[in-house]
Amino acid sequence: MSDVKSRVVVIGAGPVGLCLSLALAQKDIPVSVVEALGEDNFLEQVPRAGTNHPATLELFDRIGLYAKLEPRGIIAPLFHYWDRHERRRIAEFDHGHLKDDTRFPYVLQCERIKIVEEALKLARAHQLIDVRLSTTFTAFEQGADGVTAHVTNPAGEQEKISGAYLVSGEGARSIVRKDLGIEFEGFTYPDRTLNIEVAYDFRRHGYTERNYISDPEEWSNLFHWKGPPDRWRVHFPTDPDADEDTLCRPEALQARLQRFLPTGKAFDIVGSNLYVVHQRVAQKLNSPIGAMGMNSGVHDAFNLADKLVGILRGELDDDVLDRYERQRRHVAIQHTQAQTIRNKRLLTEKDPAVRQRNHDELRRTAEDPKLARAFLLRTSLIESLREAERIA
Ligand SMILES: Cc1cc2nc3c(=O)[nH]c(=O)nc-3n(C[C@H](O)[C@H](O)[C@H](O)COP(=O)(O)OP(=O)(O)OC[C@H]3O[C@@H](n4cnc5c(N)ncnc54)[C@H](O)[C@@H]3O)c2cc1C
Repeated sequence: MSDVKSRVVVIGAGPVGLCLSLALAQKDIPVSVVEALGEDNFLEQVPRAGTNHPATLELFDRIGLYAKLEPRGIIAPLFHYWDRHERRRIAEFDHGHLKDDTRFPYVLQCERIKIVEEALKLARAHQLIDVRLSTTFTAFEQGADGVTAHVTNPAGEQEKISGAYLVSGEGARSIVRKDLGIEFEGFTYPDRTLNIEVAYDFRRHGYTERNYISDPEEWSNLFHWKGPPDRWRVHFPTDPDADEDTLCRPEALQARLQRFLPTGKAFDIVGSNLYVVHQRVAQKLNSPIGAMGMNSGVHDAFNLADKLVGILRGELDDDVLDRYERQRRHVAIQHTQAQTIRNKRLLTEKDPAVRQRNHDELRRTAEDPKLARAFLLRTSLIESLREAERIA
């Protein structure tokens, strides 16, 4: 290909790979996106991320993706913390406090699958993006002035795709990361999370579209998704020793839901699955990978896209990629990881005195407009983007 010297090869058509591809192509950089899934199974992926924070919505808007997602999602300005033990709401946060900080003073509840579906359509419509579905990346080799990806194409043949740069958006199990011997530091929580999707309107019990529910025995998250079918996702922790079949039996799911909210009537369960939560950051961030949250992965993608565009246009030196690493590693550790660990502790705290203190503090924060804004700037990821900009 004649444009090899400016082409970027992106592995993975997840939210990160597709956002990166669109951000590059819209600045005239040709891209090849390699995705193992094919036409037949691309939209059959298990339910995953779905809360898109204000800072992420601004980035989606830059590539024309927000307008496609808004009609498929739920605009949620509010979120709640609940105390399940006492069955009462602890605090309500209103993104309206961010009205002078962002054009999007709300989160958009819109699942990953809708994001990749819409982003894939945009990618396919862009003449500078070559989308290769049913194509599996297996290895790569670095040359003096570029990189070559080895792939298995839909016919089962080996093929090579070359470019100036290769970016891994492979998700948590990255071949690139392993081949480069980059540690994936951190830990994996021993308890898997059980996800149950229910067609039931929890708002009639005072919940809002997004709820974090603290309990010393069984914390939960409760999120609303737009249908069809209109449904709510409830997360529960599970016993690390319990096997999947026992946990996911219909009677076991119903019993859990009844303990969570005793309605006396069977819930209409539309799906369930179990997943593992990692708290890991790649030791060297050379690609926007990792199970550290879709939102921060998308932020990695846009940061990297701006730098690659500058390099490929000859406007920036490639040592600007070191700045990418300094910026995004700082965010991954100081913000994404710290915040998710703090959240989990808050929801699972067992000591009654500490629980009380935590809840009082949340309440105070939500009720004081200045404190609430500071809190929301952090949770909406606006602060982490601003902080990264200040890193040289
Ligand atoms: C159940 C669950 C709930 C979650 N909820 C949230 C949430 O609420 N908020 C949040 O921010 N994050 C959440 N996450 C995390 C979020 O889903 C991931 O961080 C996000 O999907 C990562 O995006 P990605 O594009 O990097 O990778 P992925 O979404 O994993 O996409 C990677 C893509 O690369 C492809 N691929 C992989 N290897 C190859 C290969 N060798 N060759 C070709 N293609 C390949 C895969 O098929 C896939 O399409 C959740 C995760 C799970 C599992």
